[in-house]
Amino acid sequence: MEYISTRGSAPALDFEGATLAGLASDGGLYLPREWPRLSEAEIRAMRGLSYAALAARIMRPFVAGSLTEAELEALCKTVYGDFGHAAVTPLVQLNETHWLLELFHGPTLAFKDVALQLLGHLFETFLERRGKRLTIVGATSGDTGSAAINAVAGRERIEIFMLHPNGRVSEVQRRQMTTVRAPNIHNLAIDGSFDDAQRHVKRMFSDPEVAHSVGGPLNLGAVNSINWARLMAQVVYYFYSALQLGAPDRKIAYSVPTGNFGDVFAGYVAAQMGLPIERLIVATNVNDILHRALTSGDYSAGSTTQTITPSMDIQVSSNFERLLFDCGGRDGAALAAQMQGFDDSHAMQLTNAQRQGAAKLFTSARADQKETARAMQWAWRSAAQVIDPHTGVGLHASLAAPAAGQVEPGTPIVTLATAHPAKFREAVERAVGVRPSLPPRVGDLFGREERFTELPGTYDASRDFVLQHAADSAS
Ligand SMILES: *Cc1c(COP(=O)(O)O)cnc(C)c1O
Repeated sequence: MEYISTRGSAPALDFEGATLAGLASDGGLYLPREWPRLSEAEIRAMRGLSYAALAARIMRPFVAGSLTEAELEALCKTVYGDFGHAAVTPLVQLNETHWLLELFHGPTLAFKDVALQLLGHLFETFLERRGKRLTIVGATSGDTGSAAINAVAGRERIEIFMLHPNGRVSEVQRRQMTTVRAPNIHNLAIDGSFDDAQRHVKRMFSDPEVAHSVGGPLNLGAVNSINWARLMAQVVYYFYSALQLGAPDRKIAYSVPTGNFGDVFAGYVAAQMGLPIERLIVATNVNDILHRALTSGDYSAGSTTQTITPSMDIQVSSNFERLLFDCGGRDGAALAAQMQGFDDSHAMQLTNAQRQGAAKLFTSARADQKETARAMQWAWRSAAQVIDPHTGVGLHASLAAPAAGQVEPGTPIVTLATAHPAKFREAVERAVGVRPSLPPRVGDLFGREERFTELPGTYDASRDFVLQHAADSAS
């Protein structure tokens, strides 16, 4: 499979190249040149496969030329044999219409593990093959950092520096980063906000001194959801859940708590491959740029409001660019100009083709904190399920969808449960009065020693640390 950039001027790459590159050199994002299609009969034949076997079947066309079938199957077995539930992503029924798809049975209790655990193995395979090393520098507000650190811990060819805003991530999130003991992990708690951390990281990528000292370009997109391999891995659980609910002979609707538009874009890919998805509901918190874009075509960024769903406190959703490219006729030059306009003014208008293309599959809904809490209470009282606030945003949208005419009567609606409730236990306890406990497999999280370096909020402090330690490990 060949991968092309949404902005039209970067060279096409194979799967291995696109995985290691992350971001394309023209600033765009990689997408497959065409969508692989599965017939109804082929989809029907997937019923009853284990998660690992299904994952290998779905990902096969995307990795063709970079991994053999045997390599891919072995990889999927290793990665998905190690989750905290035999089904990897189990479905839980709430009532006759509503279901939860639990995506939080990986090591750090959020859906990001499903893809990042695979990505860690892919990096290792490809770096080994090329005899190369990879230095990852990232900023996190919590979930990506912990999932990425757990995915690359102890891997010889990878060095990871993860910046988080000191005191502004939950204690579980922090401990999931700082208690991982491996020489290639560097946790930096910086004095400042997530935006400050993100700004330092971006600046490091254009700092020639940094590139020189780590002996090659740093990789900005390596573990972020702009990496195509992450989205590819997430396509699998749409198939897995839809098959259990009667696909391809029945249509399914999904509600997806959305921040960077990665998880819900994987649902779009599943639909392009032939899975009968009736509707994808983009559920946002009050940071609702996507809700506004999908309802009125107005994509304009404001300032970010802090909520009880921090992983969705995002104004600019990187992966939305992939949808605009695919729905807008795959015109890289036109999209590059449109995105340049957005970079300059933080606002843009969707074209008619983009709006109509998106409307075929997507609708959207927004939940404020009260509505989120109410959906969490509904899950607890009506179905005895304690859910996390991000899942609560998704469930709010699901419950409203039939009356809003967004989903046909009789269609099952699946809410993606993106995090375990124990990861956000304070917010859960406030909303439903129950304090969720951590699953036994991470039970000693509070007994393990933490290791992180506290740094002042200046760019120089972060950069000097990376320079010092990247040089040490390269020598
Ligand atoms: C990352 C995250 C999201 C948002 O997912 P995107 O792919 O960025 O849209 C939602 N919920 C949780 C718990 C997350 O960690």
